[in-house]
Amino acid sequence: MSLLQNRPPVGPLHRHISLRPDAQPLPDVAGMVQTLRPEEPLHCIRPAVISTHARAFTAAFNGDALYAVKCNPEPAVLRALWEGGIRHFDCASISEVTLVRRLFPGADIHFMHPVKSRRAIREAWIINGVRDFVLDSADELQKILEETGRDEAAAVAARPGLFVRLALPETGAAINLSKKFGADVETAAALLRAARPHAGRLGVAFHVGSQCTNPQAWGEAMALAGEVIRAAGVRVDVIDVGGGFPTAYPDIAPPPLGAFMAEIDAAFARLNLPGVKLWAEPGRALVAGGASVVVQVQLRKGGMLYINDGVYGALGDAGALGFRFPVRLLRHTPRLGAPDEMFGFFGPSCDSLDVMRGPFILPGDVAEGDWIEIGQLGAYGTCLRTGFNGFDRAALAEVSDGAMLQTAGYEPEDL
Ligand SMILES: *Cc1c(COP(=O)(O)O)cnc(C)c1O
Repeated sequence: MSLLQNRPPVGPLHRHISLRPDAQPLPDVAGMVQTLRPEEPLHCIRPAVISTHARAFTAAFNGDALYAVKCNPEPAVLRALWEGGIRHFDCASISEVTLVRRLFPGADIHFMHPVKSRRAIREAWIINGVRDFVLDSADELQKILEETGRDEAAAVAARPGLFVRLALPETGAAINLSKKFGADVETAAALLRAARPHAGRLGVAFHVGSQCTNPQAWGEAMALAGEVIRAAGVRVDVIDVGGGFPTAYPDIAPPPLGAFMAEIDAAFARLNLPGVKLWAEPGRALVAGGASVVVQVQLRKGGMLYINDGVYGALGDAGALGFRFPVRLLRHTPRLGAPDEMFGFFGPSCDSLDVMRGPFILPGDVAEGDWIEIGQLGAYGTCLRTGFNGFDRAALAEVSDGAMLQTAGYEPEDL
């Protein structure tokens, strides 16, 4: 089947990007599994779901949406986002920058990692036309100014966009992103003042943490950004409200997208900063529903299923973080389903930590040879694979199926 590609680990950032096969329509997951009977994990990308979610987000957000590439750099995913109207990309490494530039010569790429190598800054600025850089320290500001101001770099007729990343107090997100990066209010204000004379545009950026289900977190962060801007006493051009927008999991139904946008708009209005633009850096919310992985059961021991993918593959967040993902059984041989039961999974590696407790709800007669489709893996799932213990084989296909779970505000009928 020509629609199937091999999926090497860390592939997307380095492998040759093949052109999209124009064989239409795309197959569906159940049909593919029946035909291929895959004995290695099969990654199923749903381009239509990704485009729809991107369209919903860009329509609802009153500013520019930068897709956070780390969430899933697969070219098929990036193309679906572009199709859905995404033109801005938040990159954190020079490999991400180069990949996006190769795919989309006209994209706006923003380098939003607060600690960059000098070479990455230079290559982004000179070769890849990246104009915006984030920082949370005076040393990083100095580094950016030196590397974009060198002789060969000075030929660029622009001044860098400079964004100060603000640290936030705990917000109740599933994953905190302020323990490692971000300046406190006083430092951020000083950095804004120091950066202003050198900045083509100046911004304040924050991240409330990933999978944040509380809209108020954005309101509080926006108020803090306002405090920083007042303390700095300089003109700011952009407030970047970051990512963190949640997606649905079997035990989590987040408030609808509109609730987050209403909170952001209200908090922004309270700051009364005419002329300032809003940016956001969504990752998870745009792509989580856009990929699943079909795994095969290799052995059953009571309530535990030994499957051919695990925490060193696409299922990392189901391990220590305990994420529950939606599952559906695709049977090896047709038989009547037994009542549902709760199951845990063991991954293929020899490490006892390669366990996913779930629980995952499946028909009680699930057996060796059956396939399980695991959904909502488009974000921080299909891109986290490693080659550990030699279990690095997987295939990749684009499919026509809908998302396995709906997230309020992102489906066409909600728009
Ligand atoms: C990871 C990350 C994002 C995306 O976060 P999500 O929770 O996936 O929306 C955005 N911006 C920065 C700086 C990040 O590190």
